[in-house]
Amino acid sequence: MNEDCIFCRIVKGETDTKIIKESERLIVFKDISPQAPIHLLIVAKKHIQDITRIDEETWNEIKDVATGIAKARSIPGFRLVHNAGDASLVKHIHVHFLGEVSGERKL
Ligand code: 5GP
Ligand code: ZN
Repeated sequence: MNEDCIFCRIVKGETDTKIIKESERLIVFKDISPQAPIHLLIVAKKHIQDITRIDEETWNEIKDVATGIAKARSIPGFRLVHNAGDASLVKHIHVHFLGEVSGERKL
């Protein structure tokens, strides 16, 4: 737990963020500033910085949760985005699940 970390505060239930899904090591909630029709954040409960520090079990669980969401909601196409190091704003590992996006895009 990092007192200054917004995602740690969300994990602890200190905010009014609605948790959409929870698994052993992860929680899922909507991004506050959505960049796609479906924009969820898959977030580790543990304060891990990014993919360079993650354990195999947590990374595998991210894969399972992401594919599980797509299957449960019958989402035909989705993107997973992970920003690491200086490319991230929140230094607590999360993967963006972007649903209902087109293959025709720049990035
Ligand atoms: P990144 O670190 O991957 O660049 O971006 C962090 C993401 O977290 C952003 O898309 C931002 O909108 C989202 N975010 C930051 N603070 C909050 C928050 O308090 N609640 C929610 N739901 N999303 C947040
Ligand atoms: Zn944290």
